[in-house]
Amino acid sequence: RICQSDFIHALDDVKPAFGSSKEEFEKYVANGIINWGAPVMRVLEDGDLLVSQVKSSHKTPLVTVLVEGPPGSGKTALAAKIAQNSDFPFVKVCSPENMIGFHEAAKCQAIKKIFDDAYKSPLSCIIVDDIERLLDYKSPPSGRKLLVIGTTSRKDVLQEMEMLSVFSTIIHVSNISLGEHLMSVLESLEVFGDKELNTLAKKTSGKRLWMGVKKLLVMVEMARQMEDSHRILNSYAC
Ligand code: ATP
Ligand code: MG
Repeated sequence: RICQSDFIHALDDVKPAFGSSKEEFEKYVANGIINWGAPVMRVLEDGDLLVSQVKSSHKTPLVTVLVEGPPGSGKTALAAKIAQNSDFPFVKVCSPENMIGFHEAAKCQAIKKIFDDAYKSPLSCIIVDDIERLLDYKSPPSGRKLLVIGTTSRKDVLQEMEMLSVFSTIIHVSNISLGEHLMSVLESLEVFGDKELNTLAKKTSGKRLWMGVKKLLVMVEMARQMEDSHRILNSYAC
């Protein structure tokens, strides 16, 4: 695990492996945010509240939020959306995906650089994606405000590491669990015709489901490739 001493021993000659923020954010919200139901709205509204809190409060220069939920439920995309909506002058994603092959010290260096850059801006937002795989930050210097959005599907691991208390608040991201919510996604994607949608609606109405939006989008994309006559059965079988 990364600790303070790792920062001190961090290498000097590591180039940060990050693209420009704008490109990065497009990547994380590539498939958009489908508003499939109240749970999605709640996450975005809670996010907006925290953004306002950071902007307007003088007492809370550092606000930290943990966006947690099952794998593939849409945590990273929602965190990126909150950060995008914030309109903060500095927004950055700090992700283990961007640090594959880095040794610990290099990871520390890359993370430290993001935070140092953030502290140069009066108002910043950093997403620490899959936060249990990274971590460690300090308070911003005076006059600087920072929103840290961590994401995780391993709340249990963070709890074991006694790290949950690091966060001012926790936002839960839900899987899709109602037929109606599933249908909202399918309708918004414009892949299925009315007849297919009706059949699917009947079959899923009132049923309990458990599905992350990430996997659902992949399955719908597969359905799009299939022959019309085959696809409704297959997509339901999934
Ligand atoms: P992992 O557990 O693998 O980290 P994740 O929970 O972070 O996954 P994302 O990587 O954010 O999930 O994937 C969600 C995908 O679904 C993204 O491509 C996003 O654009 C798309 N998406 C569509 N609608 C929504 C929504 N309402 N909420 C979140 N993501 C959505
Ligand atoms: Mg993620």
